[in-house]
Amino acid sequence: MQMQNAALRQNVESEAIFDTHPEVSLDFQYVQEALKKGYSKPFLLVDSNIVRNKARRFKAAMPRVQPHYAVKANPDPRVLKTMIEEGVGFEIASISELDLLLSLGVPAVEIYYSNPMKSRTYLEYAASKGVEWYVLDSIEELRKIVSVKPDAQMYLRIDTPNIGSDWPLAGKFGTHAAEIKGIINEAAKLKADLAGVTFHVGSQCRNPQNWRVGIERAKKVFSDMRRAGLTPRLLNIGGGYPVRHIKPIPSIEIIAEVVNTAIADLPESIRVMAEPGRYLVSDAAYFVCRVVGTATRNGKRWMYWDAGMFGGVIEVTEGLRYEILSDRKGRDIPWSVAGPTCDSVDILMRDEMLPEDIQEGDFIYIPNAGAYTTAYASNFNGFPLPDVMVL
Ligand SMILES: *Cc1c(COP(=O)(O)O)cnc(C)c1O
Repeated sequence: MQMQNAALRQNVESEAIFDTHPEVSLDFQYVQEALKKGYSKPFLLVDSNIVRNKARRFKAAMPRVQPHYAVKANPDPRVLKTMIEEGVGFEIASISELDLLLSLGVPAVEIYYSNPMKSRTYLEYAASKGVEWYVLDSIEELRKIVSVKPDAQMYLRIDTPNIGSDWPLAGKFGTHAAEIKGIINEAAKLKADLAGVTFHVGSQCRNPQNWRVGIERAKKVFSDMRRAGLTPRLLNIGGGYPVRHIKPIPSIEIIAEVVNTAIADLPESIRVMAEPGRYLVSDAAYFVCRVVGTATRNGKRWMYWDAGMFGGVIEVTEGLRYEILSDRKGRDIPWSVAGPTCDSVDILMRDEMLPEDIQEGDFIYIPNAGAYTTAYASNFNGFPLPDVMVL
């Protein structure tokens, strides 16, 4: 395990695999046009054509892998409609996400319930609406699902390395090797239809080898399932496909080479799906906010935006680095950047190099911010939710 990790880490550092295919971004001209109509609060400007193209590019890169969009990345109904038009399925974590999809006419069978911890009430509701596939990663969740819906089709979320992911998810979810057989045996004993395996390599994953390791582990689990008398039919390779910010990324085509090779020897009876969230929506949008004020504190420069970690710009607080643009041309100096609320955790960046002449009223533009921004925003401290505008 130690050696394997060292090899994976080395792979992340060999940047040769990065940036081999061009990435798109919303044209800044659309942002300028939107601003001509005025500005009242932070907004996200999404180009649904880019969403459409990303869905097509994902499918073209991995023809055997059916994408199921992770609704949480950006649940705007117009974004969801674009996915529907492109024949993309869905992955949900809650029943309000389920209701939203059903209201748009998505058949329940195309909706996968991929949250490993579901309340009994939510399970009953999802089952009553016709959702067929449910994830689990513990023996308790297996028993819970079966007690609510004895004929549920289930997939086991296993632990995979999150090395090289900017937003790791390992630890909270994912069955470890030591517990897998116990769950499989319990499923066989209950005559439950445990029929798939899934994993999540971590969000904004810059290391394609994580998918290879996940798929190899899944194949071992399939063998264990067959030995126990179960009938594996689903491989769900999860989310994590990255988009361009500051750091170089492997293109979807590079990740696809790894995935396509790893799934090549899977029997036809195993359906392969994925759960891209960020990849399908992030570079379709600009997030726009405004500087409400600046200050010097103890010799250091501070700027305060009208959207902070409660207003949609939250991923920076866990290490994701956005490109931050303004209309100023002054030399770059280190700034501390904070949100508008009175909570002391609402600090976005320290020593971020930005033009020294930025001042009150300036606009701030964040490209490729269509995922995990507006979806996270709250009204904390009375500040408004950002608008979402869709082209
Ligand atoms: C969040 C999530 C995804 C999407 O992840 P991305 O990194 O945005 O691609 C997919 N599957 C599950 C279960 C998730 O929780």
